[in-house]
Amino acid sequence: MMKPTLTTPLELAPLLAFGAHPDDVEFGCGGVIVRETSAGRAAHLCVCSRGEAATHGTPAERTAEAEKAAQLLGATLEFVELDGDAHLEIRAAHAIKLASVIRRLRPDILLAPSLEENQHPDHFRLGRLVRDAARLARYGGVAELRGSAAHAISQLFFYALTPESEPADVSPVLIDVSSPKIMEAWTAAMEAHASQTRARNYVELQLTRARLLGLRAGVGHAIALYPNDALVLDSLAQLSRGARLF
Ligand SMILES: [Zn+2]
Repeated sequence: MMKPTLTTPLELAPLLAFGAHPDDVEFGCGGVIVRETSAGRAAHLCVCSRGEAATHGTPAERTAEAEKAAQLLGATLEFVELDGDAHLEIRAAHAIKLASVIRRLRPDILLAPSLEENQHPDHFRLGRLVRDAARLARYGGVAELRGSAAHAISQLFFYALTPESEPADVSPVLIDVSSPKIMEAWTAAMEAHASQTRARNYVELQLTRARLLGLRAGVGHAIALYPNDALVLDSLAQLSRGARLF
């Protein structure tokens, strides 16, 4: 397991992405990770199971695939043990454990699976735990966290692993991932999860979703992130454009 050392050449605070299973971040928002790491932002993936309940791939294979994929994304990786694949429960102890990861890495931006329930039950539960962890990480009085300094993130974004897990009531932020280098690295990172892509065409699903969003946004490909909180801008000058091409 790679232990992260997060130093950022361009003084961008690190990004921390959580996944319930070894391939979640790659399929859900891998292009965003590459977009950020290629801009000099450190990214760390925190994976909360070895995918041991899956039909395909052993935990050892899944671990090796995740390590290879993280490298392709330019990210560091660690596994955190909670209840195990398909057994995740929402508990304060888990939120506190994830809060300790947040305090150690001190990220600016968090990424987590969306809270929509009609998907793998671990996904929305992990989303809830990360949302709670972000809050606990900034509270000074949580006894279990007293060993590390409180930390407040800037933004929590949710990613959607499938069309069914896209929140219907949240306007997404679309991240342009059209650059050929980004698309190439993202695709390679998804394909690194060969035990999963052999069974179903997950790569084409994600590339097609990104293409559809790209068409709406007037770019090649885009990935949707769903903000947990209202985004704050210094001025309207920070806005680039809205997606309403059709
Ligand atoms: Zn998953």
